[in-house]
Amino acid sequence: MIQVQAIGRSDVGKVREANEDAFHVGDSVYAVADGMGGHVAGEVASHTALQPIVALDGRVFADAETATAALRDAVVAANEAVVTKAADDPSYRGMGTTLTAVMVEGRRAHVAHVGDSRAYILRDGGFSQLTTDHTLVQRLIDQGRLTREEADRHPQRSVITRAIGVDPVIDVDAMSFDLDPGDVLLLCSDGLTGPVEDDMIADLLDNEDVDEVAKGLVDAAIEAGAPDNVTVVVLRVDGLPNTEQPPAGETVQVRTRPDSGDGADWASRLGRVGRLSEDHTGGVFTADNTGRSGPGRPNRLTAIIVAVVLLLVLVLAGGRFLLSRSYYVGLDGDVVTIFQGVPASIGPVDLSWEFEATDLRRDDLPAHLVDDVEAGVPVTSAEDARILVDNWVVDDDTTG
Ligand code: CA
Repeated sequence: MIQVQAIGRSDVGKVREANEDAFHVGDSVYAVADGMGGHVAGEVASHTALQPIVALDGRVFADAETATAALRDAVVAANEAVVTKAADDPSYRGMGTTLTAVMVEGRRAHVAHVGDSRAYILRDGGFSQLTTDHTLVQRLIDQGRLTREEADRHPQRSVITRAIGVDPVIDVDAMSFDLDPGDVLLLCSDGLTGPVEDDMIADLLDNEDVDEVAKGLVDAAIEAGAPDNVTVVVLRVDGLPNTEQPPAGETVQVRTRPDSGDGADWASRLGRVGRLSEDHTGGVFTADNTGRSGPGRPNRLTAIIVAVVLLLVLVLAGGRFLLSRSYYVGLDGDVVTIFQGVPASIGPVDLSWEFEATDLRRDDLPAHLVDDVEAGVPVTSAEDARILVDNWVVDDDTTG
């Protein structure tokens, strides 16, 4: 058997009154969730989101693709669970959570991720971030409009663009790769990565005692003021199973991305949720070289049917209430507008409506953003939408 030492540690920090983070350290599954939504709701969101992940613990899968898909499906199920709970109880309205999970199976690690909690790896002294933050500042970095250093000090650095429990449809980033003996994986909430620099995190991970590592990381955040809840899960690979599998080739990397404005219809967008992409319409897909094929059409069809039925049920049974908790920025004619709902329709039923028009016009938008806005840029709240739009205005006035 593969030998993994793992430990989790969470601290309320020095400013917050409650700990809304949650984590799971199991036999094969490890996760961190960072809840939001205020008193009690944040805790409920993070703990609820962990349940479908915990249910995978100890399960064995036929191949890497199936395992990655199962982990991503569990994140989709986590989203449904939090969305449902928030709809059922008004005191939970508006709650959400990040979710970053790792499943170790055979000699592979599978990672699934939504939000700004991170997964890192330390291998042969090289330290790298496996996940991409779903944050406003990361979006600006990707667009070349902000450096990482600027992002670290940006006043809106904690605004996330994707979270579990906010929208009935969720895009999940997922990947898998071969582990090596000596690899150290870290899952953590932004209560660590906000106050503690990457260099220091890398130094602290370079230690064979995972208990000391976890303690050291949390202590470093506390010494830096711990403005937020701090949660870390540390895994160290001590040995690998002898398997008949071919030697590690290229890794399978699957990343589902939100639509980039190619006019894809609602059903095909749904079909991209919770499955490995065989085609290349959705994002990056690098096949491994073992000649295995993906799960194919049946899974995709099932995912579409389940999603469409679920959506119809939601729409019929008060879907407007659920949709009213989702926002996006799009275009109403030439006017940049904040919409409630999601940028789609089912037959004649429109799934969004205008929430607030802005002063910005299509022509005011930076050219590279027009396509994104046309397709609809999802945000977690009206406030985030206003911040996003303000950023476009500010960016237009300055050259930074
Ligand atoms: Ca946090």
